[in-house]
Amino acid sequence: MDYSFSKSQQELREKTIAFVKSEISRDVAREVDRSGKFPHDLMNKLGQQGFWKINIPAQYGGDDGSVVDLMIFFEEISKALPVLSWTAGDVLLYGNNILKVNGNEEQRQKYLPGLAKGELIFCFALTEPDAGSDAANIQTSAELVGDHYVINGSKMFISGASVANISVTNTRTSPDRYNGITSFLVDTSSEGYSATPIKKLGYKGSDTCEVYYKDVKVSSDSILGGPECFNKGWHQMMRLLNGERLVLSACSIGIADTVIRECISYLKNKKKQYAPGIRFQETEHKIAEMASQLEAARQLAYYAAWMMTQGMECVKETSMCKYFCADTGKKIALMGMEIMGAYGYTMDSCVQQFFRDIPILSIGGGTSQIQKNIIAKTLGL
Ligand SMILES: Cc1cc2nc3c(=O)[nH]c(=O)nc-3n(C[C@H](O)[C@H](O)[C@H](O)COP(=O)(O)OP(=O)(O)OC[C@H]3O[C@@H](n4cnc5c(N)ncnc54)[C@H](O)[C@@H]3O)c2cc1C
Repeated sequence: MDYSFSKSQQELREKTIAFVKSEISRDVAREVDRSGKFPHDLMNKLGQQGFWKINIPAQYGGDDGSVVDLMIFFEEISKALPVLSWTAGDVLLYGNNILKVNGNEEQRQKYLPGLAKGELIFCFALTEPDAGSDAANIQTSAELVGDHYVINGSKMFISGASVANISVTNTRTSPDRYNGITSFLVDTSSEGYSATPIKKLGYKGSDTCEVYYKDVKVSSDSILGGPECFNKGWHQMMRLLNGERLVLSACSIGIADTVIRECISYLKNKKKQYAPGIRFQETEHKIAEMASQLEAARQLAYYAAWMMTQGMECVKETSMCKYFCADTGKKIALMGMEIMGAYGYTMDSCVQQFFRDIPILSIGGGTSQIQKNIIAKTLGL
């Protein structure tokens, strides 16, 4: 078992670190958090530097990267500006990955070049006011009227919905819970589509929206995967879950890594203010625990990713790491706040920003409780 990074993965890591260093100063990260505006400028720069090609297949001009490549990128970006990794998901996960895994040839040809160049943003609309963890309960409908479908209903907490060009919209097309969901590629400039951003605690700038569909007309060609994928939306979604859980785990790891580094730097400075020999041993032990927990989370995540790249069954492992990395990250962020005292509590500190950001990682992409349900099921319970 060898899950060390390949040469090209190491280069991707270095390229991402260089991007972070040149483009995401603490001032830039603070301003995105303060303004709550979608980071178009940073997204454009990521596109210009070729990051949107990471997971596009080679035959469409991409770098053909695996889930590990995505994790490397998401981890490094999350170390500096967690919300930018979330908005990057609007291209890399909801655009590239969805088309790669579930799109048909025509849809890939139509959208992948624009996604690679940074000209397109996608969003993924599943959650509804009465369908969160119980996602199969969605009620937004798509009805066949003549030669097209008409979508009516509403979605909740959809990231990127007011800035996206295409909304991958999951609709109810027949009463069957799992065999009655169809996914449409909805052009957000269509008449009847509207999205309103929601204010929230963290990940400010991710454009989380309430979305309305009022008689939105779509063609059968816009069914994800083509007309033959009518009523196949649930099964299409299931194919994306392992990868999404791993990428979100990498985001938790990145956030926790920065909190620990901030604590180390804070403690080193504090020691300078006191007489030599005073060690703050209790704080040192806390940081040692945080670093050990993070290492365990990182090993679990990259081990599960290795399993996925080997084509092994890994639902249990990806659920374990999604919940474990998010919960470990939350604990580390809280411990970081305690260690840094009043400094951690000021709006200048990145630790308070990350402390507000990290809870979403145990909600989005399936809550920690839902991951534990899945793990329990795989254990035969
Ligand atoms: C910032 C943000 C961005 C988001 N982006 C998107 C997006 O882009 N697209 C999208 O479709 N959705 C998005 N979501 C929605 C997200 O996926 C849901 O919030 C999530 O699935 C949980 O649903 P819920 O909030 O309705 O909570 P609920 O499902 O109502 O859960 C509430 C609590 O009950 C627990 N619970 C529920 N059911 C069970 C069960 N069976 N067993 C044990 N515990 C249970 C949950 O774990 C949770 O603690 C986003 C949410 C946020 C906050």
